[in-house]
Amino acid sequence: MTKTEICNYCGGDYIPKRRGAQKFCSNSCRSLNWKNNQPIKELKVPVANSKNEKPVIAEKPSLQEKMSLAGIGNAAVGVAAVELAKNFVTPNANKPATKKDIEDLKAFLKSRFLPIYNLKKDVHGRTAYYDVQTGNLIYF
Ligand SMILES: [Zn+2]
Repeated sequence: MTKTEICNYCGGDYIPKRRGAQKFCSNSCRSLNWKNNQPIKELKVPVANSKNEKPVIAEKPSLQEKMSLAGIGNAAVGVAAVELAKNFVTPNANKPATKKDIEDLKAFLKSRFLPIYNLKKDVHGRTAYYDVQTGNLIYF
């Protein structure tokens, strides 16, 4: 009859291959247990105003810290991408007019001569304009 043992990590019982030497049911439990027992390194921020102490250089982040930092970065990039996509797909007509848009419109309405784009230039190569004040079509 084989005797089972309790895994030190997951608590599941297992049949050890070598009695006494084995504490975990699997290699993954062994490595997970080892990882979880590692002390969490604090990131040390250099102190700017200390006169006597040299600034403490931040320790290299552990792999797990690197991963979570990368995760934060990716999340931020994701949000920016979504905002960009929103702007991209929103038709201009549905966007609320900005102050600049209104100023542009005012300037446009104030201008007396409006270019007419669906008329060909005249024989002198001049562009057709609509004179808002007289209602005439002129070239210049
Ligand atoms: Zn286990």
